[in-house]
Amino acid sequence: MVINETTIAVGEQGLVKIPIGQLPSGNVINVITHVFRGPARGPTLLLLGGMHGDEINGVEIVRQAVQSGLFTTLTKGTVIAIPLLNVYGFINFSREVPDGKDLNRSFPGTSTGSLAARVAFELHKHILPLVDFGVDFHTGGNNNYNYPQIRYTREDKVAEALAFAFGAPLTLPYASVAKSLRKIALDKHQLPLLVFEGGENLRYDGLSIQYGLAGIRRLLQYQQMIDGEFKAAPSQSFPKTVWLRAPRGGLFQWMKASGNFVQKGEALGFISDPNGVKPPVYVHASRSGFIIGHNNTPVVGQGDALFHVAYADG
Ligand SMILES: [Zn+2]
Repeated sequence: MVINETTIAVGEQGLVKIPIGQLPSGNVINVITHVFRGPARGPTLLLLGGMHGDEINGVEIVRQAVQSGLFTTLTKGTVIAIPLLNVYGFINFSREVPDGKDLNRSFPGTSTGSLAARVAFELHKHILPLVDFGVDFHTGGNNNYNYPQIRYTREDKVAEALAFAFGAPLTLPYASVAKSLRKIALDKHQLPLLVFEGGENLRYDGLSIQYGLAGIRRLLQYQQMIDGEFKAAPSQSFPKTVWLRAPRGGLFQWMKASGNFVQKGEALGFISDPNGVKPPVYVHASRSGFIIGHNNTPVVGQGDALFHVAYADG
């Protein structure tokens, strides 16, 4: 396997620095890519963190997986692990790159495009052609907490099987966004890519990190890339989701949160008048379902997303 002119043979491991640009100061920005190859040929797994620079749980999951030594026990196949893709966003505590563009809306990118397009292009051109399946680790954004979950493209049956093998508490068919990594991976590389969501931006979440690490191990066992018998973990799946939004602005407090199953009509939270004049307004569940995400911000505007509820058909 050759990445950026570095050759890593079967049974070897290596660290490849992929230059993706430079700061105005002249400092070169590299994406640090770990490559672990087992003693026999087999499938190649991509683990990607920090696509959004403020989604730290994903960075931490891939970092811990690398430093745990798990990948030095591969019996076959290859793991390519990139803990932090969006270095620019990370150093600015930001989801995006400095020009405001979202890397995950910039695939496949071009070598002469905006900064986000250039970073996307490096991944599309040099890494994705080497990969057989992958997991892209994210968190909620804008103070939204996501309960640990795997999202996959409904029509992609290979991804569906891998998604359930990962064994997060929630496994959700979820349409991919135009120009996202998941969409381009499938459309241009026939590459099943799972998206893990867990916790919120700029905040550690132990539960999500544990489920992320356990899922990686399970995925490797499912593909027989490490020793140990694969055992499926319980996971709930729902075909649809709905957002509940703020009926008015004010001070928001939730009463139910991610991980709770709620009944239609149940009060999930309330919005208070910060001036203490009007009575609070309650937010009710529009249907029975499982809260897969909720908003932790104390101040909300009218129409802001408060709860993300997954539900069964009918
Ligand atoms: Zn993200």
